[in-house]
Amino acid sequence: MKQKPLIIPVFVPHEGCRHRCVYCDQVTISGVSQPFWSATAVRRHIGSYFGRSSRHPVEVAFYGGSFTLLPRSRQLLLLEAVQDCLKRGQINSVRISTRPDAIEADHLGFLRAMGVKTIEIGVQSLSDRVLSASARGHTSKHVYEAMLCLQQHGFEGGLQLMPGLPSDSRDTFLRTVDQSIALRPNCVRLYPTIVLAGTQLDRLYRRGRYEPLALAEAVEWCKEAKQRFAAAAIPVIRMGLQATASLEQPGHIVAGPYHPAFGQLVSSAIWRDRMTPLLKETSRRSRRLVIHAQSQELADIRGHRNGNLIDWVRELQLASLKTVQCPQTGPGQFRITIE
Ligand code: SF4
Repeated sequence: MKQKPLIIPVFVPHEGCRHRCVYCDQVTISGVSQPFWSATAVRRHIGSYFGRSSRHPVEVAFYGGSFTLLPRSRQLLLLEAVQDCLKRGQINSVRISTRPDAIEADHLGFLRAMGVKTIEIGVQSLSDRVLSASARGHTSKHVYEAMLCLQQHGFEGGLQLMPGLPSDSRDTFLRTVDQSIALRPNCVRLYPTIVLAGTQLDRLYRRGRYEPLALAEAVEWCKEAKQRFAAAAIPVIRMGLQATASLEQPGHIVAGPYHPAFGQLVSSAIWRDRMTPLLKETSRRSRRLVIHAQSQELADIRGHRNGNLIDWVRELQLASLKTVQCPQTGPGQFRITIE
């Protein structure tokens, strides 16, 4: 099986960003308040990851800002800090994230020469109504143009989507998912909208002018999205914000569907939908069942804190329900036997 790359994140919160989207507080999200990385600090940070993992390939990812809007000298300083590691083969590529209206064909040659292979675009939604209500400062047209430009210049393009923004609905979000699939991204991230303290969204929420998604609703929307992307062979590489000490500090999250294991909630809900009919059918023959699947699937099958197992035992009135590693079962597959 293809190994997941080791990603070394370098957060550059708000650097380069001239906007203030209604929901955004990159410093709280990333937990990085250091405004300026020096080249030495970047090298030291990257070096601290070596030897921690045997995962390959290794990628350095500059997250959190609008990288292509940084002054060219700043981009150069950050990217030069990774060149020695690239030459030595200690890292294999560089990933950056930026806004869709900050991709210019003239600039892409420089990024390629500096080892950038993947550019993630903060799309959030492909509904112009949602983009406007979120004060994004760009339209869906910018996203289409940006993806075309990246693909024409041989970059891998990633899309970041935010279900539950102001004016969003399930139908609007799923339309964005279908339109995103048509753009053929190399990867997608799903970040359900959270209300962070001090943001414009916080003020809208307190005035009763914005209602975030409930956790169950966000799981349901993302479940449908993940399945649509999977059917199109587009990997969803993250669902939900990374749990950081800063984000989880009391008072930072005001409202919204935050859960430290959000991705697992979604993956487990998908397994639950897939497995329940067969478990139900098999439970008519025995109250003692065994689920067989590959080891890396078992945690999601069991569910967060064994939630799926607990629910199945209760709902199907089972005497026991075990999970067993089965290397012969294919990825994403499962078998159910009687104990
Ligand atoms: S463009 Fe990105 S970094 Fe800038 S305010 Fe919006 S979400 Fe935050």
